[in-house]
Amino acid sequence: MPDCIFCKIARGEIPSAKRYEDEDVIAFNDLNPQSPVHILVVPKQHIESAADITADNAHLAAKCFEVIAKLAKENNLQNGFRVINNCGPDGGQTVPHLHFHLLAGKKLSEKIV
Ligand code: 5GP
Ligand code: ZN
Repeated sequence: MPDCIFCKIARGEIPSAKRYEDEDVIAFNDLNPQSPVHILVVPKQHIESAADITADNAHLAAKCFEVIAKLAKENNLQNGFRVINNCGPDGGQTVPHLHFHLLAGKKLSEKIV
């Protein structure tokens, strides 16, 4: 997806504060952090949203969760963290490339569920 912001970050065309990278997944600090730790965990393949996860690409979503656990260990998040995925207009998604927000570093408020 040539014009997708997160595809451009994955290709290194837009700079980011990278926290992790392998052949499938990139993780970088959110530009507008909502907590002391706010990392976006993103499959490099352009999957538009959680609504587009299929049997063919579900391993990439699973890999994102492996990376989340790795980042939690590396960043001493033993006190806990929250993972958020916003999907589609009603879910408040603003960047149409699948990503998981990893939030931590303080007692998080505004719990919805
Ligand atoms: P969404 O609202 O789609 O769940 O989350 C998109 C997130 O991407 C937002 O938290 C926003 O701050 C972040 N974001 C948007 N553009 C950029 C960018 O160019 N670089 C980084 N690091 N984060 C971005
Ligand atoms: Zn993309």
